[in-house]
Amino acid sequence: MTAILLQAGTVLAHEGDRVKVLRDHDILIVGNKIEAISQGLTLREGSNGRVIDCRGKIISPGFIDTHHHLWQSQMRGRFGNMTFMEYMVAGNIQSFNYTPEDIFWGQLAGCQESIFSGVTTVVDHAHMTYSPDHATEAIRASASSGLRTFFCYTPIRRIRKWTSDEPVDYDEELLPEWWFSTLESLAKAGPFGNGRVKLGLGFDAFNLSKEVVQDVWAKCRGLGIKLFTTHYVANSMKNSISLLKEYALLDSTTLFSHINGLAPTDAETLLRHGAYFSSTPETELQMGLGEPVAFNPDLKCNASIGIDCHASNSADILSQLRLGMQHARGAENAAVVARGEYPRVSIKLEEVFNLGTIQGARAVCMEGDIGSIEVGKFADIVVFDASSPNMVCAAQEDPLAAVLLHANVGDIEMVIVDGVVRKEGGRLVDVGVLDGIDGAEGEGLSLRDVSRRLLESRERIIERAAGQGAGRAMEFLYETFG
Ligand SMILES: [Zn+2]
Repeated sequence: MTAILLQAGTVLAHEGDRVKVLRDHDILIVGNKIEAISQGLTLREGSNGRVIDCRGKIISPGFIDTHHHLWQSQMRGRFGNMTFMEYMVAGNIQSFNYTPEDIFWGQLAGCQESIFSGVTTVVDHAHMTYSPDHATEAIRASASSGLRTFFCYTPIRRIRKWTSDEPVDYDEELLPEWWFSTLESLAKAGPFGNGRVKLGLGFDAFNLSKEVVQDVWAKCRGLGIKLFTTHYVANSMKNSISLLKEYALLDSTTLFSHINGLAPTDAETLLRHGAYFSSTPETELQMGLGEPVAFNPDLKCNASIGIDCHASNSADILSQLRLGMQHARGAENAAVVARGEYPRVSIKLEEVFNLGTIQGARAVCMEGDIGSIEVGKFADIVVFDASSPNMVCAAQEDPLAAVLLHANVGDIEMVIVDGVVRKEGGRLVDVGVLDGIDGAEGEGLSLRDVSRRLLESRERIIERAAGQGAGRAMEFLYETFG
Protein backbone atom coordinates (compact mmCIF):
# COMPACT_ATOMS: atom_id res chain seq x y z
CA MET A 1 0.00 0.00 0.00
CA THR A 2 1.14 3.53 -0.67
CA ALA A 3 1.96 5.77 2.27
CA ILE A 4 2.26 9.53 2.68
CA LEU A 5 3.72 11.23 5.74
CA LEU A 6 2.73 14.87 6.17
CA GLN A 7 5.39 16.11 8.55
CA ALA A 8 5.39 18.89 11.15
CA GLY A 9 2.36 20.89 10.03
CA THR A 10 -0.28 22.84 11.92
CA VAL A 11 -3.20 20.40 11.92
CA LEU A 12 -6.83 21.52 12.27
CA ALA A 13 -8.18 18.45 14.05
CA HIS A 14 -11.62 17.90 15.52
CA GLU A 15 -12.91 16.65 18.85
CA GLY A 16 -16.62 16.50 18.19
CA ASP A 17 -17.53 20.06 17.21
CA ARG A 18 -14.43 21.59 18.77
CA VAL A 19 -11.56 22.38 16.42
CA LYS A 20 -8.24 21.57 18.04
CA VAL A 21 -5.09 23.15 16.66
CA LEU A 22 -2.21 20.65 16.79
CA ARG A 23 1.04 22.46 16.07
CA ASP A 24 4.09 20.66 14.73
CA HIS A 25 2.17 17.42 14.15
CA ASP A 26 2.50 14.65 11.56
CA ILE A 27 -0.21 12.75 9.71
CA LEU A 28 0.50 9.29 8.39
CA ILE A 29 -1.68 8.19 5.47
CA VAL A 30 -1.64 4.52 4.48
CA GLY A 31 -3.67 3.57 1.42
CA ASN A 32 -6.76 5.78 1.47
CA LYS A 33 -7.00 6.17 5.25
CA ILE A 34 -5.46 8.28 8.01
CA GLU A 35 -3.44 5.84 10.10
CA ALA A 36 -1.86 8.08 12.73
CA ILE A 37 -1.73 11.70 13.94
CA SER A 38 1.10 12.47 16.30
CA GLN A 39 4.59 13.91 16.63
CA GLY A 40 7.75 12.22 15.46
CA LEU A 41 6.03 9.73 13.14
CA THR A 42 8.07 7.85 10.55
CA LEU A 43 7.24 5.72 7.52
CA ARG A 44 7.38 1.99 8.08
CA GLU A 45 10.71 0.52 7.18
CA GLY A 46 10.81 -0.69 3.59
CA SER A 47 7.62 1.13 2.64
CA ASN A 48 7.84 3.11 -0.58
CA GLY A 49 6.00 6.11 0.82
CA ARG A 50 6.65 9.83 0.46
CA VAL A 51 7.52 12.31 3.17
CA ILE A 52 6.11 15.82 2.67
CA ASP A 53 7.56 18.66 4.70
CA CYS A 54 4.63 20.63 6.12
CA ARG A 55 6.55 23.10 8.26
CA GLY A 56 4.88 26.51 7.85
CA LYS A 57 1.74 24.88 6.44
CA ILE A 58 -1.80 24.44 7.74
CA ILE A 59 -3.37 21.00 7.25
CA SER A 60 -7.16 21.06 7.06
CA PRO A 61 -9.83 18.47 6.37
CA GLY A 62 -10.99 18.62 2.75
CA PHE A 63 -14.06 20.79 2.33
CA ILE A 64 -17.51 19.33 1.64
CA ASP A 65 -19.85 20.96 -0.86
CA THR A 66 -23.40 19.67 -0.35
CA HIS A 67 -25.13 21.18 -3.38
CA HIS A 68 -23.70 21.56 -6.86
CA HIS A 69 -24.50 21.02 -10.54
CA LEU A 70 -21.12 19.83 -11.76
CA TRP A 71 -21.91 19.60 -15.50
CA GLN A 72 -22.26 23.33 -16.24
CA SER A 73 -18.61 24.42 -16.80
CA GLN A 74 -19.03 25.52 -20.45
CA MET A 75 -21.46 28.26 -19.32
CA ARG A 76 -19.09 29.97 -16.85
CA GLY A 77 -19.32 33.75 -16.98
CA ARG A 78 -22.84 33.84 -18.40
CA PHE A 79 -24.91 34.68 -15.35
CA GLY A 80 -23.25 37.70 -13.70
CA ASN A 81 -26.28 39.97 -14.13
CA MET A 82 -29.03 37.35 -14.07
CA THR A 83 -31.64 36.34 -11.51
CA PHE A 84 -33.18 32.90 -11.08
CA MET A 85 -35.57 32.64 -14.05
CA GLU A 86 -33.03 34.09 -16.48
CA TYR A 87 -30.52 31.53 -15.21
CA MET A 88 -33.08 28.77 -15.76
CA VAL A 89 -33.29 29.66 -19.46
CA ALA A 90 -29.63 30.48 -20.11
CA GLY A 91 -28.28 27.75 -17.82
CA ASN A 92 -30.43 25.02 -16.32
CA ILE A 93 -32.35 23.92 -19.44
CA GLN A 94 -29.27 24.29 -21.68
CA SER A 95 -28.66 20.62 -20.88
CA PHE A 96 -30.85 20.18 -23.98
CA ASN A 97 -27.89 21.45 -26.01
CA TYR A 98 -25.36 19.11 -24.38
CA THR A 99 -24.44 15.78 -25.95
CA PRO A 100 -23.03 13.08 -23.66
CA GLU A 101 -19.56 14.15 -24.80
CA ASP A 102 -20.25 17.75 -23.75
CA ILE A 103 -21.46 16.48 -20.38
CA PHE A 104 -18.17 14.61 -19.95
CA TRP A 105 -16.00 17.69 -20.48
CA GLY A 106 -18.27 19.99 -18.47
CA GLN A 107 -18.38 17.52 -15.60
CA LEU A 108 -14.64 16.83 -15.61
CA ALA A 109 -13.84 20.56 -15.56
CA GLY A 110 -16.37 21.08 -12.75
CA CYS A 111 -14.75 18.33 -10.67
CA GLN A 112 -11.31 19.78 -11.36
CA GLU A 113 -12.36 23.23 -10.19
CA SER A 114 -13.65 21.72 -6.95
CA ILE A 115 -10.42 19.82 -6.27
CA PHE A 116 -8.33 22.88 -7.20
CA SER A 117 -10.35 24.84 -4.60
CA GLY A 118 -9.78 22.36 -1.77
CA VAL A 119 -13.17 20.67 -2.02
CA THR A 120 -12.86 16.90 -1.68
CA THR A 121 -16.55 15.83 -1.57
CA VAL A 122 -19.44 17.16 -3.67
CA VAL A 123 -23.15 16.36 -3.71
CA ASP A 124 -23.85 16.58 -7.42
CA HIS A 125 -27.53 17.26 -8.16
CA ALA A 126 -27.29 15.87 -11.70
CA HIS A 127 -30.19 17.44 -13.58
CA MET A 128 -28.94 16.77 -17.09
CA THR A 129 -30.11 13.17 -17.58
CA TYR A 130 -31.29 13.38 -21.19
CA SER A 131 -30.23 9.80 -21.88
CA PRO A 132 -28.41 6.88 -20.23
CA ASP A 133 -25.22 8.09 -21.93
CA HIS A 134 -25.53 11.53 -20.36
CA ALA A 135 -25.52 9.88 -16.93
CA THR A 136 -22.70 7.44 -17.61
CA GLU A 137 -20.48 10.11 -19.17
CA ALA A 138 -20.96 12.31 -16.10
CA ILE A 139 -20.04 9.42 -13.82
CA ARG A 140 -17.02 8.54 -15.95
CA ALA A 141 -15.81 12.14 -15.64
CA SER A 142 -16.37 12.24 -11.86
CA ALA A 143 -14.62 8.92 -11.36
CA SER A 144 -11.71 10.00 -13.59
CA SER A 145 -11.24 13.30 -11.75
CA GLY A 146 -10.45 11.76 -8.37
CA LEU A 147 -13.13 13.77 -6.55
CA ARG A 148 -15.43 12.10 -4.01
CA THR A 149 -19.03 12.67 -5.13
CA PHE A 150 -22.61 11.63 -4.78
CA PHE A 151 -23.97 11.44 -8.32
CA CYS A 152 -27.59 12.27 -7.59
CA TYR A 153 -29.37 10.90 -10.62
CA THR A 154 -32.37 13.17 -11.35
CA PRO A 155 -35.49 12.83 -13.51
CA ILE A 156 -35.88 15.94 -15.68
CA ARG A 157 -38.24 17.45 -18.24
CA ARG A 158 -36.61 16.60 -21.54
CA ILE A 159 -37.07 19.10 -24.38
CA ARG A 160 -37.51 17.63 -27.86
CA LYS A 161 -37.64 20.81 -29.93
CA TRP A 162 -37.02 24.45 -29.07
CA THR A 163 -37.28 27.32 -31.56
CA SER A 164 -38.52 30.92 -31.43
CA ASP A 165 -41.68 30.26 -33.42
CA GLU A 166 -43.51 27.46 -31.63
CA PRO A 167 -44.12 26.41 -28.03
CA VAL A 168 -41.29 24.22 -26.72
CA ASP A 169 -41.99 20.58 -27.45
CA TYR A 170 -41.10 18.26 -24.58
CA ASP A 171 -41.47 14.67 -23.49
CA GLU A 172 -44.48 14.43 -21.16
CA GLU A 173 -43.09 11.31 -19.57
CA LEU A 174 -40.83 12.22 -16.64
CA LEU A 175 -39.96 8.66 -15.70
CA PRO A 176 -39.58 6.54 -18.85
CA GLU A 177 -38.61 2.90 -18.61
CA TRP A 178 -34.97 3.63 -19.51
CA TRP A 179 -34.71 6.03 -16.58
CA PHE A 180 -35.35 3.17 -14.13
CA SER A 181 -33.31 0.54 -15.98
CA THR A 182 -30.34 2.93 -16.14
CA LEU A 183 -30.66 3.64 -12.42
CA GLU A 184 -30.75 -0.06 -11.74
CA SER A 185 -27.71 -0.90 -13.82
CA LEU A 186 -25.74 2.01 -12.35
CA ALA A 187 -26.66 0.94 -8.82
CA LYS A 188 -25.52 -2.60 -9.57
CA ALA A 189 -22.24 -1.46 -11.16
CA GLY A 190 -21.37 1.20 -8.56
CA PRO A 191 -19.82 2.67 -6.58
CA PHE A 192 -17.24 3.94 -9.04
CA GLY A 193 -13.67 5.27 -8.82
CA ASN A 194 -12.46 3.07 -5.96
CA GLY A 195 -15.73 3.69 -4.07
CA ARG A 196 -15.48 7.49 -4.27
CA VAL A 197 -18.45 8.05 -6.61
CA LYS A 198 -21.70 6.87 -5.07
CA LEU A 199 -25.20 7.10 -6.39
CA GLY A 200 -27.84 9.33 -4.85
CA LEU A 201 -31.24 10.54 -6.00
CA GLY A 202 -31.85 14.14 -7.09
CA PHE A 203 -35.56 14.88 -7.22
CA ASP A 204 -37.70 17.96 -7.85
CA ALA A 205 -40.65 16.37 -9.67
CA PHE A 206 -43.24 16.96 -6.96
CA ASN A 207 -46.04 17.37 -9.48
CA LEU A 208 -46.02 13.56 -9.70
CA SER A 209 -48.51 11.75 -7.49
CA LYS A 210 -47.79 10.58 -3.96
CA GLU A 211 -47.79 6.93 -5.06
CA VAL A 212 -45.29 7.55 -7.84
CA VAL A 213 -42.93 9.51 -5.57
CA GLN A 214 -43.15 6.80 -2.90
CA ASP A 215 -42.42 4.19 -5.55
CA VAL A 216 -39.30 6.07 -6.74
CA TRP A 217 -38.03 6.26 -3.14
CA ALA A 218 -38.76 2.58 -2.53
CA LYS A 219 -36.94 1.54 -5.71
CA CYS A 220 -33.94 3.71 -4.79
CA ARG A 221 -33.79 2.35 -1.26
CA GLY A 222 -34.07 -1.17 -2.63
CA LEU A 223 -31.02 -0.42 -4.78
CA GLY A 224 -29.02 0.71 -1.76
CA ILE A 225 -29.23 4.47 -2.36
CA LYS A 226 -28.71 6.39 0.88
CA LEU A 227 -28.89 10.07 -0.08
CA PHE A 228 -31.94 11.92 -1.46
CA THR A 229 -31.59 15.58 -2.39
CA THR A 230 -34.19 18.11 -3.45
CA HIS A 231 -34.43 21.88 -3.94
CA TYR A 232 -36.63 23.92 -1.63
CA VAL A 233 -37.26 27.65 -1.99
CA ALA A 234 -40.39 28.94 -0.27
CA ASN A 235 -43.04 30.38 -2.59
CA SER A 236 -41.06 29.47 -5.74
CA MET A 237 -41.36 25.70 -5.83
CA LYS A 238 -43.62 22.99 -4.45
CA ASN A 239 -43.08 22.52 -0.73
CA SER A 240 -40.87 19.43 -0.74
CA ILE A 241 -40.53 19.42 3.07
CA SER A 242 -44.24 19.14 3.78
CA LEU A 243 -44.79 16.75 0.84
CA LEU A 244 -42.01 14.36 1.86
CA LYS A 245 -43.34 14.42 5.41
CA GLU A 246 -46.85 13.68 4.16
CA TYR A 247 -45.48 10.82 2.04
CA ALA A 248 -43.60 9.41 5.09
CA LEU A 249 -40.30 9.73 3.22
CA LEU A 250 -38.61 12.45 5.24
CA ASP A 251 -35.63 11.34 7.35
CA SER A 252 -31.92 11.92 7.92
CA THR A 253 -31.13 10.74 4.37
CA THR A 254 -32.97 13.78 2.96
CA LEU A 255 -30.85 16.78 2.02
CA PHE A 256 -32.62 19.99 1.00
CA SER A 257 -30.90 22.73 -0.93
CA HIS A 258 -31.35 26.45 -0.14
CA ILE A 259 -34.52 26.47 2.08
CA ASN A 260 -34.68 30.28 1.84
CA GLY A 261 -37.90 31.71 3.25
CA LEU A 262 -38.62 28.55 5.22
CA ALA A 263 -41.83 28.74 7.27
CA PRO A 264 -41.47 27.98 11.02
CA THR A 265 -43.61 24.84 10.67
CA ASP A 266 -41.37 23.51 7.89
CA ALA A 267 -38.28 24.35 9.95
CA GLU A 268 -39.68 22.37 12.83
CA THR A 269 -40.52 19.44 10.51
CA LEU A 270 -37.03 19.41 8.99
CA LEU A 271 -35.32 19.40 12.39
CA ARG A 272 -37.64 16.83 13.92
CA HIS A 273 -36.92 14.37 11.11
CA GLY A 274 -33.16 14.92 11.30
CA ALA A 275 -32.90 16.15 7.70
CA TYR A 276 -30.05 18.44 6.65
CA PHE A 277 -29.90 21.34 4.23
CA SER A 278 -27.34 23.00 1.98
CA SER A 279 -27.12 26.76 1.97
CA THR A 280 -25.46 28.31 -1.10
CA PRO A 281 -25.01 31.99 -0.15
CA GLU A 282 -23.65 33.37 -3.41
CA THR A 283 -26.27 32.05 -5.85
CA GLU A 284 -29.05 32.70 -3.33
CA LEU A 285 -28.02 36.33 -2.84
CA GLN A 286 -27.54 36.97 -6.55
CA MET A 287 -30.49 35.08 -7.97
CA GLY A 288 -33.03 36.54 -5.57
CA LEU A 289 -33.82 33.36 -3.65
CA GLY A 290 -33.85 35.23 -0.33
CA GLU A 291 -31.71 35.46 2.78
CA PRO A 292 -29.29 32.51 3.23
CA VAL A 293 -30.26 30.60 6.38
CA ALA A 294 -27.07 28.64 7.14
CA PHE A 295 -26.38 30.86 10.16
CA ASN A 296 -29.92 31.00 11.50
CA PRO A 297 -29.43 30.10 15.19
CA ASP A 298 -32.46 27.81 15.19
CA LEU A 299 -31.41 25.88 12.09
CA LYS A 300 -27.63 25.89 12.02
CA CYS A 301 -27.28 22.52 13.75
CA ASN A 302 -28.62 20.92 10.52
CA ALA A 303 -26.88 23.25 8.08
CA SER A 304 -24.13 22.62 5.55
CA ILE A 305 -22.72 24.67 2.70
CA GLY A 306 -22.75 24.34 -1.09
CA ILE A 307 -21.79 26.03 -4.33
CA ASP A 308 -24.85 25.40 -6.52
CA CYS A 309 -23.58 26.77 -9.87
CA HIS A 310 -19.86 27.05 -10.59
CA ALA A 311 -20.93 28.67 -13.87
CA SER A 312 -22.28 31.57 -11.80
CA ASN A 313 -19.57 31.89 -9.16
CA SER A 314 -16.36 30.14 -8.18
CA ALA A 315 -16.50 26.69 -6.61
CA ASP A 316 -14.43 27.37 -3.51
CA ILE A 317 -16.16 26.78 -0.21
CA LEU A 318 -13.95 29.34 1.56
CA SER A 319 -15.66 32.14 -0.40
CA GLN A 320 -19.11 30.77 0.44
CA LEU A 321 -18.30 30.48 4.14
CA ARG A 322 -16.86 33.99 4.28
CA LEU A 323 -19.67 35.59 2.31
CA GLY A 324 -22.39 33.77 4.26
CA MET A 325 -20.80 34.52 7.62
CA GLN A 326 -20.24 38.22 7.02
CA HIS A 327 -23.68 38.65 5.46
CA ALA A 328 -25.28 37.01 8.51
CA ARG A 329 -23.15 39.06 10.93
CA GLY A 330 -24.18 42.20 9.05
CA ALA A 331 -27.88 41.29 9.09
CA GLU A 332 -27.77 40.51 12.80
CA ASN A 333 -26.03 43.76 13.69
CA ALA A 334 -28.33 45.84 11.50
CA ALA A 335 -31.17 44.69 13.78
CA VAL A 336 -29.06 45.11 16.93
CA VAL A 337 -28.06 48.67 16.04
CA ALA A 338 -31.64 49.54 15.05
CA ARG A 339 -32.65 48.61 18.60
CA GLY A 340 -30.04 51.07 19.91
CA GLU A 341 -27.71 48.32 21.18
CA TYR A 342 -23.97 47.90 20.68
CA PRO A 343 -22.92 45.59 17.76
CA ARG A 344 -21.59 42.12 18.56
CA VAL A 345 -20.11 39.05 16.85
CA SER A 346 -22.16 36.03 17.82
CA ILE A 347 -21.26 33.78 14.86
CA LYS A 348 -17.83 32.32 15.67
CA LEU A 349 -15.14 31.06 13.29
CA GLU A 350 -15.21 27.52 14.67
CA GLU A 351 -18.86 26.96 13.74
CA VAL A 352 -18.23 28.47 10.31
CA PHE A 353 -15.35 26.07 9.70
CA ASN A 354 -17.54 23.18 10.84
CA LEU A 355 -20.21 24.12 8.28
CA GLY A 356 -17.72 23.43 5.48
CA THR A 357 -16.29 20.27 7.03
CA ILE A 358 -17.88 18.06 9.71
CA GLN A 359 -21.40 19.41 9.22
CA GLY A 360 -21.13 18.59 5.51
CA ALA A 361 -20.14 15.04 6.44
CA ARG A 362 -23.23 14.76 8.65
CA ALA A 363 -25.42 16.11 5.85
CA VAL A 364 -24.34 13.23 3.59
CA CYS A 365 -24.49 10.61 6.37
CA MET A 366 -20.71 10.05 6.26
CA GLU A 367 -19.59 11.53 9.57
CA GLY A 368 -17.65 8.35 10.38
CA ASP A 369 -15.64 8.57 7.14
CA ILE A 370 -14.99 12.21 6.17
CA GLY A 371 -15.25 15.81 7.41
CA SER A 372 -12.40 15.83 9.93
CA ILE A 373 -8.82 14.71 10.36
CA GLU A 374 -9.15 11.63 12.52
CA VAL A 375 -7.50 8.23 12.62
CA GLY A 376 -9.52 5.73 10.57
CA LYS A 377 -11.20 8.31 8.33
CA PHE A 378 -10.53 8.64 4.62
CA ALA A 379 -7.49 10.77 3.80
CA ASP A 380 -9.29 13.79 2.28
CA ILE A 381 -6.90 16.58 3.17
CA VAL A 382 -5.99 20.13 2.12
CA VAL A 383 -2.60 21.73 2.79
CA PHE A 384 -2.37 25.54 2.84
CA ASP A 385 0.90 27.38 2.32
CA ALA A 386 0.66 29.52 5.45
CA SER A 387 3.75 31.54 4.56
CA SER A 388 1.95 33.29 1.70
CA PRO A 389 1.87 37.12 1.82
CA ASN A 390 -1.73 37.04 3.04
CA MET A 391 -1.55 34.14 5.55
CA VAL A 392 1.72 34.73 7.37
CA CYS A 393 1.21 36.03 10.95
CA ALA A 394 -2.51 35.04 10.77
CA ALA A 395 -1.42 31.38 10.74
CA GLN A 396 0.68 31.93 13.86
CA GLU A 397 -2.04 33.98 15.63
CA ASP A 398 -5.12 31.87 14.82
CA PRO A 399 -5.02 29.20 12.07
CA LEU A 400 -8.83 29.21 11.80
CA ALA A 401 -8.83 32.93 11.07
CA ALA A 402 -5.98 32.37 8.61
CA VAL A 403 -8.05 29.83 6.66
CA LEU A 404 -11.46 31.49 6.90
CA LEU A 405 -10.53 35.16 6.56
CA HIS A 406 -7.10 35.41 4.94
CA ALA A 407 -6.65 32.41 2.64
CA ASN A 408 -7.53 32.20 -1.03
CA VAL A 409 -7.45 29.28 -3.46
CA GLY A 410 -3.90 30.25 -4.46
CA ASP A 411 -2.75 29.27 -0.97
CA ILE A 412 -4.02 25.70 -1.39
CA GLU A 413 -0.78 23.95 -2.17
CA MET A 414 -1.84 20.34 -1.96
CA VAL A 415 -5.13 18.43 -2.12
CA ILE A 416 -5.34 14.74 -1.25
CA VAL A 417 -8.55 12.79 -1.93
CA ASP A 418 -8.89 9.19 -0.82
CA GLY A 419 -5.16 9.06 -0.12
CA VAL A 420 -4.22 10.21 -3.65
CA VAL A 421 -2.50 13.55 -4.32
CA ARG A 422 -4.67 15.43 -6.86
CA LYS A 423 -3.12 18.89 -6.51
CA GLU A 424 0.51 19.51 -5.73
CA GLY A 425 2.68 22.62 -5.69
CA GLY A 426 -0.47 24.62 -6.35
CA ARG A 427 -1.16 22.81 -9.64
CA LEU A 428 -3.59 20.04 -10.56
CA VAL A 429 -2.00 16.68 -11.24
CA ASP A 430 -2.78 15.25 -14.72
CA VAL A 431 -6.06 13.34 -14.88
CA GLY A 432 -6.03 9.67 -15.88
CA VAL A 433 -9.23 9.39 -17.92
CA LEU A 434 -11.07 6.11 -17.38
CA ASP A 435 -12.11 4.24 -20.52
CA GLY A 436 -15.51 3.41 -18.95
CA ILE A 437 -17.43 4.10 -15.74
CA ASP A 438 -15.62 1.22 -14.09
CA GLY A 439 -12.84 0.99 -16.68
CA ALA A 440 -9.08 1.22 -16.60
CA GLU A 441 -7.16 4.45 -16.36
CA GLY A 442 -5.98 5.70 -19.74
CA GLU A 443 -3.50 8.39 -20.75
CA GLY A 444 -3.03 11.40 -18.53
CA LEU A 445 -4.64 14.68 -19.55
CA SER A 446 -3.15 17.97 -18.44
CA LEU A 447 -5.30 20.90 -17.38
CA ARG A 448 -4.41 22.51 -20.72
CA ASP A 449 -5.75 19.46 -22.63
CA VAL A 450 -9.00 19.54 -20.65
CA SER A 451 -9.40 23.30 -21.23
CA ARG A 452 -8.95 22.88 -24.98
CA ARG A 453 -11.60 20.14 -25.16
CA LEU A 454 -13.90 22.20 -22.94
CA LEU A 455 -13.63 25.26 -25.20
CA GLU A 456 -14.41 23.17 -28.31
CA SER A 457 -17.46 21.78 -26.53
CA ARG A 458 -18.53 25.32 -25.51
CA GLU A 459 -18.51 26.40 -29.17
CA ARG A 460 -20.71 23.46 -30.15
CA ILE A 461 -23.20 24.21 -27.37
CA ILE A 462 -23.46 27.87 -28.40
CA GLU A 463 -24.01 26.84 -32.03
CA ARG A 464 -26.82 24.45 -31.10
CA ALA A 465 -28.54 27.17 -29.04
CA ALA A 466 -28.84 29.55 -32.01
CA GLY A 467 -32.49 30.38 -32.76
CA GLN A 468 -33.88 29.16 -29.43
CA GLY A 469 -36.22 31.87 -28.15
CA ALA A 470 -36.01 32.87 -24.47
CA GLY A 471 -39.72 33.76 -24.41
CA ARG A 472 -40.68 30.26 -25.52
CA ALA A 473 -38.42 28.81 -22.83
CA MET A 474 -40.10 30.96 -20.16
CA GLU A 475 -43.52 29.66 -21.27
CA PHE A 476 -42.18 26.11 -21.01
CA LEU A 477 -40.73 26.72 -17.54
CA TYR A 478 -43.93 28.25 -16.15
CA GLU A 479 -45.91 25.36 -17.60
CA THR A 480 -43.68 22.57 -16.32
CA PHE A 481 -42.42 24.02 -13.01
CA GLY A 482 -45.65 25.81 -12.16
ZN1 LIG B 1 -29.38 23.84 -7.43
